Amino acid sequence: MSTSSYGVLGGAFFLMFGANEMPGFLGSTKTKTVHHLANMKKHCNVNEIHIHEKKYFEPDTLDQAVSEGYAPCDLCNKGGK
Ligand SMILES: [Zn+2]
Repeated sequence: MSTSSYGVLGGAFFLMFGANEMPGFLGSTKTKTVHHLANMKKHCNVNEIHIHEKKYFEPDTLDQAVSEGYAPCDLCNKGGK
């Protein structure tokens, strides 16, 4: 019985962890701009952000990015507020 309840808890934890692995926002430390990945546009050039310039936020929110001095990208953050 204890084994099966452990399995349920482990599965729930795994699902939560999996969801957290997909970031919502990606900042560039070079341009100090934050992009909304779910809504990013071709002209965001997210793929051109060097791996050492990538910045993820904790918590993964636009407010957190702004509070760290990042400017919301106009292309992909429109309508977010
Ligand atoms: Zn963008």
